[in-house]
Order: sequence, then C-alpha cells, then structure tokens
Amino acid sequence: MTDQLKPMPENWQRALAVVAHPDDLEYGCAAAIAHWTDGGRDVTYVLATRGEAGIDTCPPTECAPLREREQRASAAVVGVSEVEFLNHRDGVIEYGIDLRRDIAAAVRRHRPELVITLNHRETWAGGAYWNTPDHVAVGRATLDAVGDAGNRWIFSELIEQGLEPWNGVRWVAVAGSDTPTHAQDAGPGYERGVRSLLEHRAYIEALTDEDPEAYARSILDMGTSQVADRFGGRPAVGFEVFSR
Ligand SMILES: [Zn+2]
Repeated sequence: MTDQLKPMPENWQRALAVVAHPDDLEYGCAAAIAHWTDGGRDVTYVLATRGEAGIDTCPPTECAPLREREQRASAAVVGVSEVEFLNHRDGVIEYGIDLRRDIAAAVRRHRPELVITLNHRETWAGGAYWNTPDHVAVGRATLDAVGDAGNRWIFSELIEQGLEPWNGVRWVAVAGSDTPTHAQDAGPGYERGVRSLLEHRAYIEALTDEDPEAYARSILDMGTSQVADRFGGRPAVGFEVFSR
C-alpha cells in the first residue's frame, strides 16, 4: 500500500515555471497549468534555452526561432502569455552562479508564491533513464535561486537593476520526480495539455514517425496514469513539493 498524494496547494495567485527547454513543461505539467489559469491564476514560463540543439536535422540558428515560436504557441493554449528565455546554451547549460543569478532575477521580477521546475535528479522513471545535464542543472539552480531571490546580499547587483528581494515563494514543485508528494487532477486541463504538446509540431515530427496527436495523447496518458493509484484513481500530474 503506497501513501496517497496530497492535493497541490491552492492558496496562491502567481506561479513561475522554470525549465531548461521548449517542451519540458508540455510533457505533463501543462494539463495542471491549464487548470490553474482557468481559476484566474497567473503563470509565467522561463526557459533557460531556446532548445536550439533539439532537432538533429535543423541547425541551431534556424531551430532557435522555430522552437521559440512553438513554445509561445504552446504556452498560449494553456493560458500563459508571458514566456521568457534566458539564452543559456542548449545541451551545455552550466550549473553555477550565472544560472542562479538569472533565475533569481526572474523570481524577483515575477514575485511568485509557487515555483515549478523539472526533475533535478540524476535519473528518471525509477532509475530506468539517465536524466540530461540541462535538466539537472536548471532544476537544481531553481531550487537554489529561490533562496537567493530572497536575500538582498546575494546578487546585490540585481538591486541596482531595480529588482528588490522577493522572499514570498512558499513552495517549489518539481515535476517528473520519482518521489512525488502532491498531485493536481489532470482531467480539466487534459485536452489543452494534449494540444499544448502538439504545438511542438516540428520537434515531434523530427522525433517520431507516429501520428503527432496519437503521440501526444500517449505521452499524457502515460504520465497522468502513473500517479492515479495514489490519487483516488484520477489521472493527475505529480509533483515533489518543497515547502519554504
Ligand atoms: Zn528538456
């Protein structure tokens, strides 16, 4: 018998989702995000890269603007109008001071109560798959930068840019974690979650010969069914939540 997952916190107004690549939020999270924006909440996306190393047949200079367009369209499907890119290099993002500063600046700009990121651990799926260095770097830096954002003596140059400390983040929720603690019902946002992933059409068409919609549905079905037995049998998006 496994422990039941708790429902995600509901007493917040602004969320900031920080991930490495276009499509990272669409492999599951977007169904939850659609539900949150339905309820009048503001969600902003921050992407460390433009995903320019993501399509084998497309050189980075062409790929970056293409994937940026796809990401903006994908965000719009789930009610997210603000998408920022931090311009780190796809595939070789370095965990370090620069990344932490850029994410801390985003937290100070947007002043979220909830921060979302993607699995920062070495493996996925119970250890079956090795995670990518970009996901590890960005997930870890996001967890760290939330603390940096609240401390005026860390990255004090941000204050000179008008970015006062923000210590109001109450939770960091890690999607794709092997040890989720919470979940959000995926039902209400499911169809938009599928369409949101489908907006990454050039990426999906390069990735698989499968029909793009069948592919998107199978991805969401797989992700949302994984936690259902720990969430009252309902398809859901799981998160490992760190409280602050
Ligand atoms: Zn990724």
